[in-house]
Amino acid sequence: MAKKQFKTESKRLLDLMINSIYTNREIFLRELVSNASDALDKRYYLSLTSEDKKVKKKDLKITIETNKDLRTLTIKDSGIGMSKDELEKNLGTIARSGSLEFKKELDKASKNIDIIGQFGVGFYSAFMVSKRVEVISKSINESQGNIWASSGEDGYTISDFDVEDYGTTITLYLKDDTTDENYSEYLDSYKIESLIKKYSDYVRYPIQMMVTTSKLKEGSEDEYEDVEELKTLNSMIPLWKKNKKKITQEEYNEFYKSTFNDWENPLKEIHYSVEGNLSYTALLYIPSNAPYNFYNSDFEAGLRLYSSGVFIMDKANDLIPDYFKFIKGIIDSDDLSLNISREILQQDRQVKLLATSIEKKIKSYLEDIIKNDRESYETLFDNFGLNLKYGIYQDFGAHVDILKDLLLFKSSKEDKYVTLKEYLERKPEDQKYIYYVTGNTIEDIKKSPQMEKLLDKEIEVLYFIDDVDEFAINIMRTYDDIEFKSVNKGDFDLESEEEKKEKEEKTKENQSLLNSMKEALSDKVQDVRVSSRLVVNPVCLVSDEGLSIEMEKVLSQSVNSAGMKANKILEINPNHKIFETLQNIQNSNPELIKEYADVLYDQALLIEGLQIENPVDYGNKVIDLMIKANQ
Ligand code: ADP
Repeated sequence: MAKKQFKTESKRLLDLMINSIYTNREIFLRELVSNASDALDKRYYLSLTSEDKKVKKKDLKITIETNKDLRTLTIKDSGIGMSKDELEKNLGTIARSGSLEFKKELDKASKNIDIIGQFGVGFYSAFMVSKRVEVISKSINESQGNIWASSGEDGYTISDFDVEDYGTTITLYLKDDTTDENYSEYLDSYKIESLIKKYSDYVRYPIQMMVTTSKLKEGSEDEYEDVEELKTLNSMIPLWKKNKKKITQEEYNEFYKSTFNDWENPLKEIHYSVEGNLSYTALLYIPSNAPYNFYNSDFEAGLRLYSSGVFIMDKANDLIPDYFKFIKGIIDSDDLSLNISREILQQDRQVKLLATSIEKKIKSYLEDIIKNDRESYETLFDNFGLNLKYGIYQDFGAHVDILKDLLLFKSSKEDKYVTLKEYLERKPEDQKYIYYVTGNTIEDIKKSPQMEKLLDKEIEVLYFIDDVDEFAINIMRTYDDIEFKSVNKGDFDLESEEEKKEKEEKTKENQSLLNSMKEALSDKVQDVRVSSRLVVNPVCLVSDEGLSIEMEKVLSQSVNSAGMKANKILEINPNHKIFETLQNIQNSNPELIKEYADVLYDQALLIEGLQIENPVDYGNKVIDLMIKANQ
């Protein structure tokens, strides 16, 4: 029979797996049991919703067997099974989800091994302990069974295999022991039992194994005999139905990792029950890191939905709003119909109530950790903050009220995160605005000319370094009735009365200079002004009402920006030597003003991180001026 090769990327991953990236090798059992449990969920759901696929609950189970002579460990489930195509699709390619993304990430993987955990490599973990794996499976929708077999890197085979029962049987041919590694321990029923207890206790179907126990012989008082009996290893109480107080952190973490295919422990879990009109239990998790594809369109959000403990569907995304889509978890409600489909989900009144309640709970939980576990919240924000900001911007600001207190910004005060509420609480009473400054990085911002005075005066300014920041704030307009004000805008002023007067005078005195410069730059700027915000820098650009310079930058990168431009204002520092030079030129050589104005304007663009229209022209003008200076 011809051997099929794993897809290239699968091969490389398999290689990494086999050479044990998993430091914790024993979790292979958790992965296989969790797959079996999912398959049983699917079969049971089908049986409740379609007449011809009936199955008795008691027939749904997982059976584990060991054979010391053959060195095999077998995990059998009476679940939904896989057809030949499904075997091929599911087990022939590692990481089916987003192969392209996967390839990209795999290249980084040697440096960042953790990423691999995000690709649903569950089944393949079997190869960490096995030299050969056989999967016999019969799909509930077919009459013919199949066998899939592979010894790892050299590919796999699939062929017909007659089998009576629906479901899947996975046989692991364990690797040989070496001086360092003991694989035989997985043949020991005691070991298996402890692994099941540790990782899979809450699986809601019986996990059974034949175990040998010593029992008193019948009729005897001191004679024992070995008896084989089928023992159920797990308690079968779903974790979310257990009393919170009785659940250990490790149990929460293990459940999360096996259910949601994450490598790392979650950052936080939210476990609660609601009684009343609509009763439900939720076990939600906040991941420690954003999934590799979180900000891509192929990221599938949603919660796993159960009705009275019966699995209904995975990734029900109507239960969770887009801005909280990083949350994973399980919802179990007694008040939902089993027949609910994805289509109905959207319109169902109960589901809407459920979604509203979940959203409120998440919001108040997050507000709570902002206060009581700031470090965790900041980690969350580093990973998912961008998504919350998009939420502010989405749907014309419909979600501002929910999200506004969940935002964090770094600020000029101490380079630490601050909430908008905290900003207002600590601002001086007479400060009328919430100030913000935009830029590419905090380092850039600190050096920007517009910040000079503010840093001098120790006024707290929020740093906006994400593209979405200013768009989001434009939608919000105010927080707690206090307006946001950009320090990059023309109408920004912090001057004292005295400074204001001085500026007015300077403007009056130099009106003709300012006018000629404005004329020289008439197709580029709206105005040329004397600045009161500059200390050391010669010039800066600010924008008038409407689009900001930062927004122009962001928009210029998108295809449909339609050439939208900010209304720019060039400000000149009257205390800089260049100002004197300009005054002299205006008096002695007014025909040179245009050249000076052009150079200063381009320089201001460069400082802003914007492109100058004609670099060659700019270069030539600078050189010209250098030569003239020496004549
Ligand atoms: P994941 O569980 O993350 O999807 P796996 O590699 O563990 O990734 O499994 C791939 C797919 O193979 C599963 O999504 C499921 O469709 C199928 N599968 C695995 N084990 C079983 C099983 N015991 N019964 C039915 N289908 C299974």
